Amino acid sequence: MSAWRKKMKITGECFCGEVTYKVDGRLREARSCHCSRCRKAFSSQASAYAEVVSGTFQWLSGESFRAAYESNKGFGVQFCNRCGSTLCGTYCGDIHGVTLGCVNGDPGVEIGMHIFVGSKATWETIPDGVPQFEEGPP
Ligand SMILES: [Zn+2]
Ligand SMILES: [Zn+2]
Repeated sequence: MSAWRKKMKITGECFCGEVTYKVDGRLREARSCHCSRCRKAFSSQASAYAEVVSGTFQWLSGESFRAAYESNKGFGVQFCNRCGSTLCGTYCGDIHGVTLGCVNGDPGVEIGMHIFVGSKATWETIPDGVPQFEEGPP
């Protein structure tokens, strides 16, 4: 691991730019989930998501535009209520990870697995070359 990687600072923002954040450290467990819930939450064919190490995430701006939605079992998302971008995932109210689509530039990780491909949309084509799991990771 290079010194640059160790010191990596990641920033992200929503579509309209009001809500911004930084992550002091590396992202981990980048993955794409193809379940029906993630399709809705991400308005997309699947999620593109990576976890943050606890304590490394910090909001920088846009508090008044930030909204939260919790679905079930403690899992939720936070999004910009001005432009609609989903910025991060939460677990029991804590920031659990970020949506890769809102990261500025190189997030330093690549999607390492496709999960819940058993319930993917009929219209989706999943790229080859990355491990796929019918349900959650083993
Ligand atoms: Zn926005
Ligand atoms: Zn999912």
